[in-house]
Amino acid sequence: MTEQKGSLRQIISERMDILLALSAAALRKGDEKYAKRYIYLAKKLSTRYNCRFTKSQRALFCKGCGMPALIGKNTTVRLRKRSKSAEYACACGRVRRFKY
Ligand SMILES: [Zn+2]
Repeated sequence: MTEQKGSLRQIISERMDILLALSAAALRKGDEKYAKRYIYLAKKLSTRYNCRFTKSQRALFCKGCGMPALIGKNTTVRLRKRSKSAEYACACGRVRRFKY
């Protein structure tokens, strides 16, 4: 039973990966509506199946506005030496920090 659950989670995680990639591609084409929709679906998968976003997946979108984070387009990255963290600032004003 636990093994089955593990494989399901793996499938969901893969699916979330695909959705995140699709949404980034959509935003690159300038299709904000679809980009947002894909992020929404990925979030929904994560809550429905109790499957957390991995650290690298969390860096790919903004929790505030539900848009994929494209560095150079709607996201700027700054490295903070003092706190040893990378600051991802979204166009909506939300800031995410990741330790390094
Ligand atoms: Zn945002």
